[in-house]
Formats: sequence, C-alpha cells, structure tokens
Amino acid sequence: MDTFGVIGPGAVGSVIGESLHNSGYQVTFLGRSAGEVFVERADMQETAAFPVEAVSEVKKAFDYVFITMKGSQLEGIMPYLDQLTHEDTVCILCQNGYGQLDTFPIPNAYQAIVYISGQKKGNVVTHFRDRILILPENAGTKKLKESIAASNLELQLSSDYRYEVWYKLLVNVAINSVTALSRNTALILQDEKIQKLCKRLIREGIDIAAAEGVYFWTEITDEIMHIYAGYPPYMGTSMYYDMINEQEMEVAYIQGYLYQKSKAYNLDTPCLDTVYSLLLASEMKE
Ligand code: NDP
Repeated sequence: MDTFGVIGPGAVGSVIGESLHNSGYQVTFLGRSAGEVFVERADMQETAAFPVEAVSEVKKAFDYVFITMKGSQLEGIMPYLDQLTHEDTVCILCQNGYGQLDTFPIPNAYQAIVYISGQKKGNVVTHFRDRILILPENAGTKKLKESIAASNLELQLSSDYRYEVWYKLLVNVAINSVTALSRNTALILQDEKIQKLCKRLIREGIDIAAAEGVYFWTEITDEIMHIYAGYPPYMGTSMYYDMINEQEMEVAYIQGYLYQKSKAYNLDTPCLDTVYSLLLASEMKE
C-alpha cells in the first residue's frame, strides 16, 4: 500500500491529511515538533484529532510527500527531504505563487494549485471550504490520482496547467497586496480607489502572462473582481495575516515572481513595482 507524508500540518496540509486518513490511506503528518493537530468545520459534530510527528525525527521514505508549509518556510524542511524520500517518491508542493520548484532537489516534484480554504490558529485548523488540487497532467500525477481515488480530495489534472497557474497568480496578486499593505481585510474592496488599484494590478499581471505565452480574455479582470466582491468584509488574506502577525510573507513567489518576469520582458508595470517594493520594504530589518 502506498504511503503518504504531509509536511506542514497547517490549514492546507491538515485538510489533505484528513482526506487521506479518513479513506484509510497510510498518512503521516509531519510538523516542526511532535504533537497533535485538530480539524474542525461548521458541519462537523466533533473536532478530529491527528497525531503529528517531528519532521526531523522521522527516518522513513514515503511514496508520496505533500509539502504544505508556506513558500517562505520551505528552507526549513530542505535538510530532511532526503530521509523522507526514495528515488520514486513523488512530491506535491501545495503552495500559492510560483517558481519554488526551480531550485527543488527532488526530480519527481510538481506544484499543485491549491483550492482549499482554511485557517490554522494554535493547533486547530478550521476548514472553510473546498478540497481541490490542480496538477499538470503527466504519468506521475495520473498515478497519484489513481492512488488516492478513494479519498474525497479532488485532484484535477489539467492539460492547460500554465493557464491555471497564472489564473491563481492573478487572483492572488491584487487582493494579497492591498490587504497586506493596508493591514486591513476585504472590507477595503468597498473603496473605489482600491478597486481601481486591484484592476490595474490584475491587468499588469495579464500583460506579464501574455509575455510568457499565457493569454487571458480582458473580461478576466471583471471575473476576478467579481470573485473579490463575494469575499465577506471581515475576511483577511494569508498575506494580510502574515503582515499583522509579523510573519514572513510569500512575496517572493507571488509579487516577486511577477516582478522578475516583468523585468525580464522589459514591461511597464508601475503598480506591481510599487506594491512589490513596499512589501519588501515592510520586511526589511537591520
Ligand atoms: P499554515 O500556516 O496554516 O500551515 C503551514 C504549516 O507548516 C504550519 O503547521 C507550520 O507549523 C508548518 N511548518 C512550517 N515550517 C515547518 C517546518 N520547518 N517543518 C515542519 N512544519 C513546518 O499555512 P497554509 O496551510 O494556510 O498555507 C500553505 C500554503 O497553501 C501557502 O502557500 C498558502 O499560500 C497556500 N494556500 C493556503 C490557503 C488557505 O486557505 N489557507 C488557500 C490556498 C493556498 P507552525 O504552525 O508551527 O508554524
């Protein structure tokens, strides 16, 4: 029977681990230290508890490893990847942003576009909605899909994976930037000036995507603004929470990735350049 490791038992990781565990798969939750993680959601009678093992202590190679900490925390697990993988292990990096795999040491590694909404506070994960991972379609991901077919994790294999990557980047770039920099929730989308700024950030992202050969209809901006309009005003984004909790943000893989591409193609992206500079500046320390 295939074995599964989930490194980073946070909002996304715990929901993936829970899905696999509940369908009888052999799954190990791997965190910074040994303990427990609890998963709760509105329709659940009782909170589910899962044991967590310390990633540094586990000396077992898994067939599949889901890596589910934030992009900014990736460095912390690099020393342990060797002991957690064998030559055929397939790694699924479940993170927002893009570019993380460029320097990844595992050959069979794919990045999933994550549509799982949750939040971790202490050792309790609240799962709000969705269990969807989108991956490129290839032999390794097809095998994974077959392997976890009995779970309620929805693995979508896309033949147009790059479009999906860029779509999520466009969705993230505006809302994450404006909520983090204003240190405020989706409430700010009620302000017309913020709406305009979001639209400009999305349009600049569309131009960068086009330079990369990924094309979007111009209506996509309205579509994404419509998605934002559906967010409850009290909702924060992960970058907003990282900013107010003084934790490192995933700027490098969202705004930073877009910025590097913009510069490489010599594009004019003043809004992106501004938010990226300010986000980096907010993390500067002596
Ligand atoms: P969380 O902060 O909830 O979870 C990250 C987990 O990784 C935490 O449990 C953290 O432990 C653990 N971790 C960090 N460093 C290490 C380490 N060195 N060894 C072992 N465990 C470690 O993050 P999310 O689940 O929210 O986000 C994961 C990714 O998914 C991000 O890229 C995010 O942008 C993306 N995403 C998140 C969504 C969401 O709704 N939450 C939606 C879509 C994408 P500790 O608690 O001790 O810090």
